[in-house]
Amino acid sequence: MAKVELKGISKVYEGNIRAVDNANITVEDKEFVVFVGPSGCGKSTTLRMVAGLEDISEGELLIDGERMNDTPPKDRNIAMVFQNYALYPHMTVYDNMAFGLRIKKVEKVEIDRRVHEAARILDIEKFLDRKPKALSGGQRQRVAVGRAIVRNPKVFLFDEPLSNLDAKLRVTMRGEISSLHYRLNATMIYVTHDQVEAMTMASKIVVMKDGKVQQIGAPLDLYAYPINKFVAGFIGSPPMNFITVKVTGSGDALELDEGSFKIKPHPNHVADLKKFIGKEVFFGIRPEDLQLVPSQQADSLPVKITVVEPLGADIHLWLTTVGSLAQQVVARTEPIQTFKVNDIVHFVPRLEKARYFDKDTELSALTNAGSKSPIPIAK
Ligand code: ADP
Repeated sequence: MAKVELKGISKVYEGNIRAVDNANITVEDKEFVVFVGPSGCGKSTTLRMVAGLEDISEGELLIDGERMNDTPPKDRNIAMVFQNYALYPHMTVYDNMAFGLRIKKVEKVEIDRRVHEAARILDIEKFLDRKPKALSGGQRQRVAVGRAIVRNPKVFLFDEPLSNLDAKLRVTMRGEISSLHYRLNATMIYVTHDQVEAMTMASKIVVMKDGKVQQIGAPLDLYAYPINKFVAGFIGSPPMNFITVKVTGSGDALELDEGSFKIKPHPNHVADLKKFIGKEVFFGIRPEDLQLVPSQQADSLPVKITVVEPLGADIHLWLTTVGSLAQQVVARTEPIQTFKVNDIVHFVPRLEKARYFDKDTELSALTNAGSKSPIPIAK
């Protein structure tokens, strides 16, 4: 059992800098939770407070119901894997992995058993006699993970462990860490600025911005039901499009580019749009929810191609609306035809997938978009 609870946790640095502000996060036993957000949003600080490497300024940290605020790191039964691996260069792989256990005065036979078991799990048995400098980046990262495994901790913490690896190796290691989670059946908290890592690895994602938790939820729930424009734009690549539209009629019409085009929102959304009649809102639509149509039709948007990115399986088209405001949009489409810059093409948005955001608060304008109730936390 290892449940980690952050209750109203804040970190205030000297000069009243609130690096983390009132974080309420529950990591259930055996969950793989990813903290994600742009650089400087407070995710490492949050993780370091869980590890005990930073003092907690406000709030309570519980592990299995027990208050840990004042427990030294070594007694929290937590193992952390760092971005820079933090291996001892003069020690062999074996000694690097055994070091923490020797300090704890674990018996030699037991140390040997645990090191070999971890090395087997991570497929690094043949490197046990080598020094870190004779290993590749990926192998070093495995040693760093091995060092965590041998301690048999209640909770594993990972602080951007893959950011020093090249793109291909990152994808491989991503899969390895996921499969490790599956095999060890352990509670893991993982910090990254990379939303793809978050989406692919997490059972639950915590999105942070400016020290504040924005939303917590399963990857696909966050993708489908973002609580605000920030989460909508941060999760997903290419990002969700935001087109400024004016709500007219009785909430059942949208005007785009100063009336150059009109589209009708999906009936499910009309009730929520009523309170914005006469006002502008952000119309959010994901690149894959713009459907290419052969010619102008009702609800279609004429757009001009500015960049064509053929990716093989699909094509990303960077576009501008043809109306007076020339708003930027990106569409993901199948490679069914050749596209040229400056061509005019027509897209119909899948309106049931559209999301709407208040232009002032940037909060979702939809009270119930069929969401599985993601936890609305952002203020
Ligand atoms: P992230 O991991 O999301 O990139 P961090 O948790 O490292 O962000 O940092 C969050 C904020 O706290 C940043 O604005 C950073 O500059 C600030 N910060 C981090 N450490 C300190 C410190 N020792 N003193 C003052 N501010 C700090």
